Amino acid sequence: MTNQTVTPSIYVSVLADYNSGRLHGKWIDATLSVDEIWQKINELYITSKYPNVTATVCNDCNHIKLYSHDKCSSCDSTNIKIVPASEEFAVHDSEGFAPFTVSEYSSIDEVVAIADVLSNVTNDDDLAKITFLQGLYDDLGILKDKVDDVNIYHGSRSDYAEELISEICEIPDLLIHYIDYDKFGRDLEINGEITEIEREVFVTNAQEL
Ligand SMILES: [Zn+2]
Repeated sequence: MTNQTVTPSIYVSVLADYNSGRLHGKWIDATLSVDEIWQKINELYITSKYPNVTATVCNDCNHIKLYSHDKCSSCDSTNIKIVPASEEFAVHDSEGFAPFTVSEYSSIDEVVAIADVLSNVTNDDDLAKITFLQGLYDDLGILKDKVDDVNIYHGSRSDYAEELISEICEIPDLLIHYIDYDKFGRDLEINGEITEIEREVFVTNAQEL
């Protein structure tokens, strides 16, 4: 089953408010860019009830940047105002990231990278491939590049063994009932040449990945 109908999203809370018993946060779409997400977090920061730093808000383009600056870092305008702001957040909830997990301490870069990998999922096989690769690679960039390399087979291991043997050679009808495809398939699995990732779904080139 895929859960890709759910857009990956994070619930970001401002820590200063949270630690003072006030829930001040919002759901943010993780398929936005890192900069866009930071703008949404900055909007939360400047509406914190417990500010401890300042932020620069551009009167021309509404861009927000933490701390005091002479001009807007987005459009260079000097038509700016300095406002009170908070400066720490935590990810207090998330959805749509399976098979990955997003924690309280996940960075925005990491969250966006995961959402980017998942944006390529169009069917259950894609998700199965990513789930398999997740066990092999921590680096999301490498993982993403490997998705297309994973070969998936649907069927039992004995079905796979039968197909494999028929590709290698033609078995005379006389002998066909003497071949133990299941034993061959089981050995392929024991040797790590095929790996069952879901019931009757195999990765057939695990050793090449
Ligand atoms: Zn600006």
